[in-house]
Amino acid sequence: MPAEPLPVADSQTPPPAPQPWEAPEVAAAYASLVEQVAKTRPKEDLEPLRRAFERAAYWHRNRKRSSGDPYIVHPIAVAKILDSEQMDMVCLQSGLLHDVVEDEDVSVDEIRRIFGEEVARVVDGVTKLGKIKLANREERQAESLRKMLLAMTSDIRVIIVKLADRMHNLETLESLSRERQERISNETLEIYCPIAHRLGMGKIRAHLEDLAFKYMDPEAYKDILGQLESRRQANVEHLNEIKHAVETKLARENVPARVEGRLKRPYSIYQKLKRQRIVIEQVYDLLAIRIITDSVKNCYAALGVIHNEWHPIMGRIKDFIAIPRPNLYQSLHTSVIGPGGQSFEVQIRTEEMHKVAEEGIAAHWKYKEGRKGDAGDDQRIAWLRHLVEWQKEMNDSQAFMSTLKVELYSEEVYCFTPKGRVIVLPREASPIDFAYAIHSDVGHNCVGSKVNGRIVPLKYQLRNGDVVEIITQSGHSPSKDWLALVKTSRARNKIRHHINATERAKAIEIGEKFLEKEARRLGVQLNRVTRAKLESVAGEYGHSKMEDLYAALGFGRFSARHVLHLLAPDQVPDEEPAKPAPAATPQYTTDNDSDLVIKVKGIDDIMIYRAKCCNPIRGESIVGYVTRGKGIAVHSNNCKNVQNLLYETERRIDVEWARAVAEKFSVKLMVYSQDRPGMLHEITSIFYGESCNIRSVEARLDDKRTDDSAVIDLTCEVKDKKQLEKILAAIRRIPGVRDVERIQ
Ligand code: MN
Repeated sequence: MPAEPLPVADSQTPPPAPQPWEAPEVAAAYASLVEQVAKTRPKEDLEPLRRAFERAAYWHRNRKRSSGDPYIVHPIAVAKILDSEQMDMVCLQSGLLHDVVEDEDVSVDEIRRIFGEEVARVVDGVTKLGKIKLANREERQAESLRKMLLAMTSDIRVIIVKLADRMHNLETLESLSRERQERISNETLEIYCPIAHRLGMGKIRAHLEDLAFKYMDPEAYKDILGQLESRRQANVEHLNEIKHAVETKLARENVPARVEGRLKRPYSIYQKLKRQRIVIEQVYDLLAIRIITDSVKNCYAALGVIHNEWHPIMGRIKDFIAIPRPNLYQSLHTSVIGPGGQSFEVQIRTEEMHKVAEEGIAAHWKYKEGRKGDAGDDQRIAWLRHLVEWQKEMNDSQAFMSTLKVELYSEEVYCFTPKGRVIVLPREASPIDFAYAIHSDVGHNCVGSKVNGRIVPLKYQLRNGDVVEIITQSGHSPSKDWLALVKTSRARNKIRHHINATERAKAIEIGEKFLEKEARRLGVQLNRVTRAKLESVAGEYGHSKMEDLYAALGFGRFSARHVLHLLAPDQVPDEEPAKPAPAATPQYTTDNDSDLVIKVKGIDDIMIYRAKCCNPIRGESIVGYVTRGKGIAVHSNNCKNVQNLLYETERRIDVEWARAVAEKFSVKLMVYSQDRPGMLHEITSIFYGESCNIRSVEARLDDKRTDDSAVIDLTCEVKDKKQLEKILAAIRRIPGVRDVERIQ
């Protein structure tokens, strides 16, 4: 129901008496929030908090949570989480009001009128995030993420309030259906945790991960918790022993430090077990200590003390102080073999670094007695802006998703230019990524690379510490194959852009020539056609410029004849006579008579052929790719070639199987079988039973094997995918047949 105005309007009016919608449990929840806030910020004026609470309680007065509690206890809990993160008053108010627009039909304008611009902006952003349903369909998910990014860039507090909201939802997930538990926990792990990570909010991320893990995979969660529990006593004792030893050694060397001992979190154990396929006993950083000291100098001093005492594990020493992570995280990491042969991990950092690691970007919005941090030049905000820029450029949701996934989930490798500049790249990045990270021209002109002084192929996967030198040659252009080698969105976009631009230029040239040739052949005098007429025809094809029409012609999207028909209907009839493509266009090759069984959605009069690489048959899901000058190649949806080709979305075209055509598709099969009498007969009778023609068959002994193995090559004609599958299943059932596969 739409909210009518609250009897008491704004801050000028005196505080009201308790309202009827304030149940005792609501009053108690609010009182505990006030108590907590008053403790954390004794000097803060709590009037704005009270106003937000009263409005929110009033607006939600008729709503209950699925647990049966009055709804307002949820926003109160969210505000409480935000307070324990010491967020500012705008965040607290927004936390209290975050669901009123979505659930109670309150307008953002009304929030703005009562609570001001900032609160309105945050609530609006959180509402937009709330509407986003991350369904499985990649397309919808991409769309949602775009909106999410936009909402986040309007004010980073949007994501902070959203994360607090999510945290409380996860804490109270018990009362929801299993299906919703799964959806919310997966969404948290796939989207919100990586975003929190990229924004440097380590503490919130860790908390969310462990909460979500419990619902994402309850079995594994129980298992890991059980294993940790059974070792708890031993682990705690061991940790205390290590902690004490570290404290003693540091004190002896006069390194001032606070030492914290901790156990690896359930979710990071889970990931480690899964990734490395090991058991919990093999996790060597199950126990970890953290040394927090006063200066960078003492960080390295502490590292020295640790390495002097215990043996470091090779390859585990990481200096994130010299080279911070992209989310600005800094620390020294090492793992050592501790007392009793038990290994443990050590993280060393200053207080300042500790704060950055725990809070990240949220630190800008901390309550600081009136002072506000400037988030403007933060690298993490810059990252977010980049993402938003990319998403503007990318029309294709598949491309956008893969970009985002790389950006959000990848771990980094740190490489160096020969002059020692650090280039941070995602894992498995190639020298091409490196080249583009330096400059787009270096990328475009890259012809080779040296890693640590040795020539390596461009497909080389860069490793931590590699010194990379790019060999360039001016005038060199990127190739399509590079798209399979690069991992960064920067390189991918630059390459794609470059290829599109050159291909388009070529297509325009070809399209223009092609139209001229066809015009000559059909006796149309193009030079008599006015520019205006040409442009109006281009318009009929949905192109605003003549150039675009030429490009489309060059890519084979339309036939030149049809364009000429529109230009000069008297001279060129609409119907294309049924005959092979004219000699003037030898690049048109449709050698396959069954092409007529595929239709381009919405367009007739277009050249189509089935791609030879995957040879799709009726029933398979297919996709069209507009080739230059050869019409449309139809590939099977899962053909590897087309996956690589379709980086250019404008060349993808929807195609479908035309109905009711009694057409046959030729398919090659290879049967691996025992060499026994009657085998061939049994196989061929299956085709006979299905009324399928066999065009050729050839049996031979398998020369790769010395036993009685035979191989039968067979070309047959089938109606569709279903029939083929039936035949394949029948062949597999023949005694002595070991395998049968379709050759593509
Ligand atoms: Mn909520």
